[in-house]
Amino acid sequence: MGTSPQLVYIGLGSNLESPVEQVREALHELATLPLSRLAAASSLYASRPVGPQDQPDFINAVVALDTRLSPLALLDQLQALEQQHRRRRQRHWGPRTLDLDLLLYANNTIDNPRLRVPHPHMTTRAFVLLPLAEIAPSLNLLQQPLIAWLKRVEDQELERLADA
Ligand code: AMP
Repeated sequence: MGTSPQLVYIGLGSNLESPVEQVREALHELATLPLSRLAAASSLYASRPVGPQDQPDFINAVVALDTRLSPLALLDQLQALEQQHRRRRQRHWGPRTLDLDLLLYANNTIDNPRLRVPHPHMTTRAFVLLPLAEIAPSLNLLQQPLIAWLKRVEDQELERLADA
């Protein structure tokens, strides 16, 4: 399409069986998306589930991609990956989830029935802000430095795991 690549950030999350594996797989899949190149990937982070503790941790990570895909074309790709994971997992070991959120698309603000960017919940979630800060420490989000948003979620426990 002749457009120049745009820098985008994507949040990954999983909270069912073997979520670490699932997030690692998704990192590889994101790296092979069409018209896209992986620019950076955060470590994996774990947070304990709220409520019953006999379930796996939530595992999260954030990646940066350089992409020539339009925002909606990228969302289509992310949703296709989520579906693939669901189908594959259902066959083998039962349902698991993979959630992929388009956090930021360059400096664009998008308000579409299918897509809101910046992602509406990203400013209140440590499991998004901390991995994002790892790969984009000097980023501004809604006219405020990331560090200011991070201060507001300090009470949310998050454990940094090994590098992805
Ligand atoms: P959820 O499964 O809770 O992540 O919600 C998925 C729904 O959110 C889908 O219908 C998407 O079209 C919509 N959506 C809106 N904005 C975004 C975004 N920035 N990233 C991913 N999905 C989004």
